[in-house]
Amino acid sequence: MEKILEHFKKISSIPHCSFEADLLKEEIVSFAKRNDFEVFEDKEKNILCKKGTPKIALQAHYDMVCIGEAPCIKLVKENNILKAKNSSLGADNGMGMAIMFSMMEKYSDIECLFTSNEEVGLLGASNLELQLSSNKLLNLDGEQEDEVYVGCAGGVDIICTCKVQTAEASPDLSVYKVSISGLKGGHSGVDIDKGIPSAIKVLAQELYAKEIKIIDIYGGEMRNSIPKNAYAIVASHEPFESQSSFVTVEKIEFANQKYFLNSDKIIKVIHAFAQGVREFDKKYNIPKTSISMGKIRYEDGILQVDCAARSLADEDLDILALETCSLFELAGFETQMKNPHPAWSPNIGDFTLLVREEMSKIYSNVELKAIHAGLECGVLMQTQKHPVEAVSMGPTIRFPHSASEECDLNSVFRIAQAVENIIQKIQKV
Ligand SMILES: [Zn+2]
Repeated sequence: MEKILEHFKKISSIPHCSFEADLLKEEIVSFAKRNDFEVFEDKEKNILCKKGTPKIALQAHYDMVCIGEAPCIKLVKENNILKAKNSSLGADNGMGMAIMFSMMEKYSDIECLFTSNEEVGLLGASNLELQLSSNKLLNLDGEQEDEVYVGCAGGVDIICTCKVQTAEASPDLSVYKVSISGLKGGHSGVDIDKGIPSAIKVLAQELYAKEIKIIDIYGGEMRNSIPKNAYAIVASHEPFESQSSFVTVEKIEFANQKYFLNSDKIIKVIHAFAQGVREFDKKYNIPKTSISMGKIRYEDGILQVDCAARSLADEDLDILALETCSLFELAGFETQMKNPHPAWSPNIGDFTLLVREEMSKIYSNVELKAIHAGLECGVLMQTQKHPVEAVSMGPTIRFPHSASEECDLNSVFRIAQAVENIIQKIQKV
């Protein structure tokens, strides 16, 4: 098993930040050829390595999120926890790759798929042109060793834009900056059911039912995160006051501001937007369908609102996306759907049961789980001409995508053992 660590050391010595991973791609190709695998590559730089008659596909992404000094990674090992000095570690998904490398040295009749640019929107997997030979896919991008994922939400971004007509505000109006800041924030999928308030929604509640005109409005950080901060600059005849502890109101100089003629509609549409979980999935105990308004920006006369909708069921996602478009269109916006990715609806077949059985020999409490966020398996399966049964798992990685990223090496060895047992079992069938 020390071999796996050697592979990981080699991987982490080769730069492979998203969009800048060509050197690692070359290493994967040459490693596969040295081990007598046939190698296929597509336009997106996905790499598929096959040997013999593959009965199972192993898969990992080969790009990483580079934080701090990465891609210059200095490994630090303490009590069997691996970290990097002043950077992200790249155990996501380098450790999955290292496990795959060690399997490639030992087994034939397998295929290994290395996807590109996962961390920047599942780009490689979404545009995969390579076809797997096998109908069983074991994704090694999990982050908690005793969890086995069998489903994930699909999603679509809804981009709403509106050309704003403005008029000069009269100087007898007072101008206020109404700010919401320091809310907790979180991921718009996995954290959407945690009761975290959205700064944009709090702002809309403050502005709603007041005699005010918007001069500027701004909120949220990223399309797929729950907004932590938002503000509006408004003109009002009345003094603007707020009782909320999240809100600060500051009177600012009047400087010939122009206000939005459609201020009322904009406030109402944000106020009417139902942020959060629409339906819960009781079997997997996660949200089934949800939506989050991630960002609002006013630039060059255009107001843009970005929302992210998700669902474990493609039909429900379509309905929610269309409802949201209708709501914004009623308020005078144009709408556009972007980055659609299909749901991976849980489908427990023989392969999943075999994985669970093998995992249960190592872990006492193996749960089959689904996640309210996008995983590569969902989009990958969509690119295949034949049905594929997929399962996702992996060693324990804490704080991925940060300079505190760390990996539990004991978990790596246990997961590698499980992967090996699964391969052996399938090759016997
Ligand atoms: Zn990953």
